[in-house]
Amino acid sequence: MPEAPRVLIQTLGCAKNEADSRAMEERLGRAGISVVGDVDDADIIIVNTCCFIQSATEESIEAVLDALGFAKDAKRDVRVIVAGCMPARYDQDLEASLPEADGFVPCSEEDDIVDVVCNLAGWIPSCNAQALEQAGPLCAYLKISDGCDRWCTFCTIPKIRGRYHSFSFDDILAQARKLVSAGTKEIVLIAQDTGIWGHDLDGGHDLAWLITHLAEALPQTRFRIMYTEPDGITDDLLDAFERVPNLCPYLDIPFQHVSPHILAAMNRAGSFEELVGLAQRIRARIPHMTLRTTLMCGFPGETEEDFEELIRFVRQGLFDYIGIFAYSPEEGTKAAVLPDQVPEDIKQMRAQELRDEADSVSAQLIAERIGTTSSVLVEGIEEDGQRFGRAESQAPEVDGVTFVDAGDVGTIVDVLIEDTLLYDMEGVLQ
Ligand code: SF4
Repeated sequence: MPEAPRVLIQTLGCAKNEADSRAMEERLGRAGISVVGDVDDADIIIVNTCCFIQSATEESIEAVLDALGFAKDAKRDVRVIVAGCMPARYDQDLEASLPEADGFVPCSEEDDIVDVVCNLAGWIPSCNAQALEQAGPLCAYLKISDGCDRWCTFCTIPKIRGRYHSFSFDDILAQARKLVSAGTKEIVLIAQDTGIWGHDLDGGHDLAWLITHLAEALPQTRFRIMYTEPDGITDDLLDAFERVPNLCPYLDIPFQHVSPHILAAMNRAGSFEELVGLAQRIRARIPHMTLRTTLMCGFPGETEEDFEELIRFVRQGLFDYIGIFAYSPEEGTKAAVLPDQVPEDIKQMRAQELRDEADSVSAQLIAERIGTTSSVLVEGIEEDGQRFGRAESQAPEVDGVTFVDAGDVGTIVDVLIEDTLLYDMEGVLQ
């Protein structure tokens, strides 16, 4: 019988794809298939693709072509599987355009990854295959649902991922326990929209209930919630932030725009006043809450006045962190065929101007943390011996890091912030 195949997973795109890759890795591990970190050790390369926006699609195609090139030049048998959003979105068109690929696994079928890998490798997992003991990351994403029903007119996710479906509490808790026993110290709950978790399940539970029960069950673990749409910020959820000690006071609320006619054209609700009011309501209730949002500029029909509204919104200084994107028309979306598309150079100019504005507001807000104490998860040591980690106010990958003078990796320590440099902070153990 052939040897168990060794698999490399390359992940493109967002945190949700990271979580999907982690789930595939676990499934493969349980079947006795080793997941390797170096392409030279791999018999099978899985490219977990993203095609949320044009640039992500291009990056994914490049990664797939690189993997196919590697497989072709290798002096041994290497297979390539294209997984994730691209097979979900382009289906048979993708298969026709990539005949060299050995398999296609859309996100909805990633549970079958072990079968696909075993079929390709001609290998049967033995009944007593030992689950591989893999060290988990210190911080891990945990998906609490998949899909989306909102149909924002610029977005392909509802088409790719299907209808919103919450995962059950038992499944989420089981996943969380598994992460914690593998060494994870911070669990980041993610979904296309975390705020409506539970609405499609029996039991009448919501996100506030979920986080309360998860945090109680795993009191030594730090939790964080990302991607909560504005209507998901309920009083019950804010209560949970006040009540639950191991929940980071951090909310990521994507607004996308503040001009009502642009929001309506996006099939989203709200206005400048409503969205500012929401941020003020949160801050009045929980003054130390860190707020992040996402804004998109250059949506079809966006005038200079609409753009000025975005600038005015950023200058309110209500958000610690703001992710800025230039609109990109996605094939098959309603927005792509709207009139009054904004020329590319203007979109990019507006995005850069907004980014500069957001950077200067954020730098000021973050500098105000000097002299305060932050709870920091120490995540690593650089080559020169410098330790770094993330404060409760810093989500992974997007909000910078905190440099600390001491503390064991994997521990959560109190740090007096002494200096900041744009998004990064620096401090000493207290
Ligand atoms: S809420 Fe809108 S932008 Fe977010 S995934 Fe759903 S459709 Fe896309």
